[in-house]
Amino acid sequence: MTFHVLTLFPQMVDEATSHSILGRAKNAGLISVRCVDIRGFAVNRHGQVDDAPYGGGAGMVMMAPPVYDAYKSIGSGARVVYLSPQGKLFNQRMAEEFSREGELILLCGHYEGLDERVIEEIVTDEVSVGDYVLTGGEPAALVLMDAVSRLIPGVLGKDESSRDESFSEGNLLEYPHYTRPPAFMGRAVPEVLLSGHHKKVEEWRRAQAVERTRKKRPELIT
Ligand code: SAM
Repeated sequence: MTFHVLTLFPQMVDEATSHSILGRAKNAGLISVRCVDIRGFAVNRHGQVDDAPYGGGAGMVMMAPPVYDAYKSIGSGARVVYLSPQGKLFNQRMAEEFSREGELILLCGHYEGLDERVIEEIVTDEVSVGDYVLTGGEPAALVLMDAVSRLIPGVLGKDESSRDESFSEGNLLEYPHYTRPPAFMGRAVPEVLLSGHHKKVEEWRRAQAVERTRKKRPELIT
């Protein structure tokens, strides 16, 4: 999977994807993160990429030409995902869908956002990571890349399988986990997990998943 990231802060994206599972996946060639610095396509030698909004008002708007030229420099027909608080709320289903693309272009806005015309011209998907406003699209792009990458075969080791996890089966949250010691602060590990009875463990986990989804996120159970 190749992620092309259109950004004003390539170092931030490169650095944040250089650690842990994503870093290993990059080193193993399972994913690649290619940042395109929008400022490299500035409209003048002062590096200008934004301007005051037509119609007045506070804040600056990212200009269409630098964003468009940065996009064209990629030379790919891949889907262009604009990270935006006005987009569709990101979820596991979307992560699965994106993980089946070989390539994605992620567009990170700043300031008041982008000139609407470049959105109309190049964006195929508008995605939000939550109903709140970030200072820029990079943290949102990192969330998307992280969730998508871990679904790429080989990115997670067998100890880190994504199969049983929250949202992966029937939109349920995952069951609780325990490890050694068997007792902690007077709390014992549930008996069934020590029983060695595989089928009973499976049944208990399933019941726990349903129970905690009902308690924590009842709207997931329809
Ligand atoms: N003025 C815009 C609005 O009210 O819709 C918000 C602009 S925000 C300050 C700057 C940039 O951060 C956006 O262009 C977008 O790329 C990114 N961003 C902010 N919140 C986001 C969210 N919840 N999900 C994804 N991207 C977000």
